[in-house]
Amino acid sequence: MNRKPLVAGNWKMNMTVADARHLVSEMVPGLQSKVGVDKVICPPHTALLAVSSLLEGSDILLGAQNMYWESSGAYTGEISPIMVAEYCEFVILGHSERRAYFGETDKDVNRKVQAAFSHGLSPIVCVGESLEEYEGDRTYDVVFRQVKMGLDGLEFEDGDGSNLIVAYEPIWCIGTGRAATPEDANKVVADVIRPALVELFGESMAYKIRVLYGGSVNGENAREFFEQPEIDGALVGGASLKVTDYIQITSAAAN
Ligand code: PEP
Repeated sequence: MNRKPLVAGNWKMNMTVADARHLVSEMVPGLQSKVGVDKVICPPHTALLAVSSLLEGSDILLGAQNMYWESSGAYTGEISPIMVAEYCEFVILGHSERRAYFGETDKDVNRKVQAAFSHGLSPIVCVGESLEEYEGDRTYDVVFRQVKMGLDGLEFEDGDGSNLIVAYEPIWCIGTGRAATPEDANKVVADVIRPALVELFGESMAYKIRVLYGGSVNGENAREFFEQPEIDGALVGGASLKVTDYIQITSAAAN
């Protein structure tokens, strides 16, 4: 199955508007030259406007890091899918930091994924087990449940699965410098995520959906992940703030 690789950079709660402008101007020339890969950057909400104008005319796409599921209303501090869609093509949903620190449940993630789809946004839906779950041999159960519940009831109007992206991010690998082995990550995608997608959407659609790996990916180790048949790219945290690393990762995916 020919799935176009995708690399997305999650800047998390970093970068003022001035910092964001500086980083993007340094990154764009190197990223632009990489072809055959979808390149996405996900700054904080406050920098979306500035970054979107800097990306005009480039082939680099913009994503948000979160959103609420309602379109508008009395939800102080939240940002709606309509607002995200003013600037972005993508939105990261269900990141483990949202689940752990802000109490997001699989049901919440599901509402957000549905809302993203109905507003023409491509969700990057994060799933992954904690260290305790990993050590307790519960990876398969946890990840299977997150995929099934997070994506339940989703309908692909145009029959194109490429606008849904799943990111497998073992939580014990995020920001720790300890990446999963590429083989283990590939196995979780092949044995858990893909079968869950087949149950949800049927064989032909399931194989069109891109699955990324996330967790301590850097310029050095990215290539080994992308050589795995089930890994279609990466969701990158820390290294997405480093110009050289992020360009190296994108370049590895492009090849
Ligand atoms: C992430 O936060 O999604 C992530 C993968 O972070 P890092 O690359 O820093 O491990």
